[in-house]
Amino acid sequence: MELRLYDTLSREKRTFVPIDAKDVRMYVCGPTVYDFAHIGNARPVIVFDVLFRLLRHIYGEAHVKYVRNITDVDDKINDRAARDFPGLPLNEAIRKVTEQTGAQFHADVDALGCLRPSVEPRATEHIGEMREIIERLVKGGFAYVAEDHVLFSPQAMNAANSSLPRYGALSKRSLDEMIAGARVDVAPYKRDATDFVLWKPSKPGEPSWPSPAGIAVEGRPGWHVECSAMAWKHLGEHFDIHGGGIDLVFPHHENEVAQTCCAFHRERMANYWMHNGFLQVESEKMSKSLGNFITIHELLKDWPGEVLRLNMLKTHYRSPIDWTLKSLEESAKTLDDWYRVAADVAPGEPAASVVEPLLDDLNTSLAIAALHSLRATDVPALAGALRLLGFLSETAAQWEGRKQQASGVDAGEVERLIAERTAARTRKDFGESDRIRDLLAAMGVVIKDSKEGTTWEIAR
Ligand code: AMP
Ligand code: ZN
Repeated sequence: MELRLYDTLSREKRTFVPIDAKDVRMYVCGPTVYDFAHIGNARPVIVFDVLFRLLRHIYGEAHVKYVRNITDVDDKINDRAARDFPGLPLNEAIRKVTEQTGAQFHADVDALGCLRPSVEPRATEHIGEMREIIERLVKGGFAYVAEDHVLFSPQAMNAANSSLPRYGALSKRSLDEMIAGARVDVAPYKRDATDFVLWKPSKPGEPSWPSPAGIAVEGRPGWHVECSAMAWKHLGEHFDIHGGGIDLVFPHHENEVAQTCCAFHRERMANYWMHNGFLQVESEKMSKSLGNFITIHELLKDWPGEVLRLNMLKTHYRSPIDWTLKSLEESAKTLDDWYRVAADVAPGEPAASVVEPLLDDLNTSLAIAALHSLRATDVPALAGALRLLGFLSETAAQWEGRKQQASGVDAGEVERLIAERTAARTRKDFGESDRIRDLLAAMGVVIKDSKEGTTWEIAR
């Protein structure tokens, strides 16, 4: 099986060749845990879950390591903690915010049918590795100390006469242009406008750790160095795939590459850089001010997680997605149908017609089209392919039962009405049987008559 992946750095689709096929390694930037995750945040989680499953399918479950971090030190977390728990010492309030938000995130993405990554490192548990990277960068001349901060110098990186990558190569930006376009209000401790923070001093009460590079006051890490440290600790200096949303290419991933390659004298951090496109809602950018900001948690009250998952995967991961109610309704209908025909069938090998498009840079839209064709031709292969994609976690009865529960329809009452209708039909009282059918329709129940009797389901 040949897997091809689009790499943001080389800007081409390339055959995926793992560094070690017995230990395929992938890192994806995870959430900053300060608030409910929104449906845009769900996109990378679902997309890279599909890639994780596909890699496990190709290389074997024991041979794929997926690391997705939890950013639990960040100014947004501090602000939230101070606002939500004003009576508590800041550190305790922060712990409450990160614990609650982290647990909510897990509940949300579990419901979306995503496997837990192999490791979910927390930033606060990797401060030692961050300090180590920072020390190396200062010693190497790539970073400097100023006013209790440590700053990384992209200009020092690009001036180094070595096999390091160029700063700006990932995001295709030239450092000269970045310097020319820099804002005027650059922090006074920066030598150059393009320098970015590796470490900064903490204010009293804020989370703080002993600082690197001989700085006397305690401080905390910048966001970018957190990912370099966690990826290093769990995947090594050089690994296979690094993923995240397209908005992370610059500055976050550009800075991660810079830190890791300069600290470890490497030409590369990851061999393939993968980025998902953005999600908008009903053709508008999602934002709190527009009032169209939807959390996964809210959506899960109205839709099963697998419906959200299917809806996400109908679009290729690199294209923008327009998240609409209409599309969600269609996804729900499709899943109802697949559950009915395939959930209780012993799954066969996932169909080649589904796996092949996935091997072509995760073409899930084509894979889903193939699922529709399989429904008519090979239901066991459909069931196998759906499971590979993370669907059919329930039985057909559980799925239907949940729908009934969510609709508030009383199954006993429906059964009673259907029995009355059958009796009316037997005595040829069609006026009465039509009346009962309309009554059921008004309750949102659709009935189907066949030789075996009458079955029913909740209409979507
Ligand atoms: P954040 O919490 O903003 O750092 O985002 C966490 C992850 O969600 C990152 O990989 C982002 O790129 C991704 N992300 C955030 N907003 C969206 C969106 N509207 N569409 C797709 N991905 C998003
Ligand atoms: Zn990151």
